[in-house]
Amino acid sequence: MSTGSLLLETRALTKEFRGFAAVSGVDLRVAAGTVHALVGPNGAGKTTLFNLLTGFLAPSSGSILFEGADITGKAPEQIAPLGIARSFQITSLFEQLTLREHLELALASPTGLGMQFWRSVRRLSVFGDRAMELLDQVGLADRSGAPAGSLAYGQKRALELAIAMALDPKLLLLDEPTAGMGLEDVDRTIALVRQLATGRTVVFVDHNMHVVGSLADTVTVLQSGQVLAEGPYDEVRADERVITAYLGAAP
Ligand code: ADP
Ligand code: MG
Repeated sequence: MSTGSLLLETRALTKEFRGFAAVSGVDLRVAAGTVHALVGPNGAGKTTLFNLLTGFLAPSSGSILFEGADITGKAPEQIAPLGIARSFQITSLFEQLTLREHLELALASPTGLGMQFWRSVRRLSVFGDRAMELLDQVGLADRSGAPAGSLAYGQKRALELAIAMALDPKLLLLDEPTAGMGLEDVDRTIALVRQLATGRTVVFVDHNMHVVGSLADTVTVLQSGQVLAEGPYDEVRADERVITAYLGAAP
C-alpha cells in the first residue's frame, strides 16, 4: 500500500465507561507508511483508543476500519493476525524467560506470544539466528541468555521493541515507548522506532515533545476523549488551543 492511502480509520469511535465517555466521537485517519503521534494530557483517552483498536475493549459506538475492512468488535486474537501489534505502557515480559526465548516465541507465532509456544518449545531454536539478529539491532545481543527479569528498565523497553520487530506487523502501536527513560535511552529509542517504522505504519503515544517532533509525520491531539487538533507537528504545535490545553510547558 502506498503512502497516502489510509491504513487505519476510525469513525465516530466512542467508548463509555458507565456513562463516562473516555473516547468520544473520534475520527482518526492514519495514512499507510506514516508515523502518527497521539498526544494529550493524562486521562485524554489515548490508551483506551489503543485498547479499542486492538480489540481489548469493544466500542460503545462508531467503527474501526483497517485496510478498508470493518474490524469493529473483533477480538484481539482476530485482529492481531491482520497485522496489528502493540507494545504496552506497562512492560509485559516473562521475567524468567531469556531474551532469546522471548524473540523465538514472537517469531514462532504471527499472533504474538501465544499458546503455540508451549507445544513446540524444542522447535523454537530454528528461529535462533533471526532472534540474535533482532537482539543485536536493539543492542542486547550480549544479554541473549539472560532472563528478562534481570534487565534494566530501558533494556526491557528495547526488548519490547525487538519483539515488535519480530512480529513484523503492518501497524505497530506503541504506548509511551520512552516513559520513565533517561535522555540516553530516549535517543536510542527514537532511533529504534525510526528503524521499526521503515516499511510499516506506526502510531505512538508519547508525552515527550522531542520524541514526537523527531518521529511523527502527523500528530493528533486528544483531550477529554475528543480530537482537539490534527496535522503536521509544526502546525499542531503552533495551534493556540493545543498550547493552552497541553503543550504550553513543553520545550
Ligand atoms: P490516557 O491513556 O490518555 O492517559 P486512558 O485511556 O487511560 O487515558 O483513560 C481515559 C479515561 O478513561 C480516564 O478518565 C480513565 O480513568 C478512564 N478509564 C480508562 N479505562 C477505564 C475502565 N476500564 N473503567 C473505567 N474508566 C476507565
Ligand atoms: Mg495511557
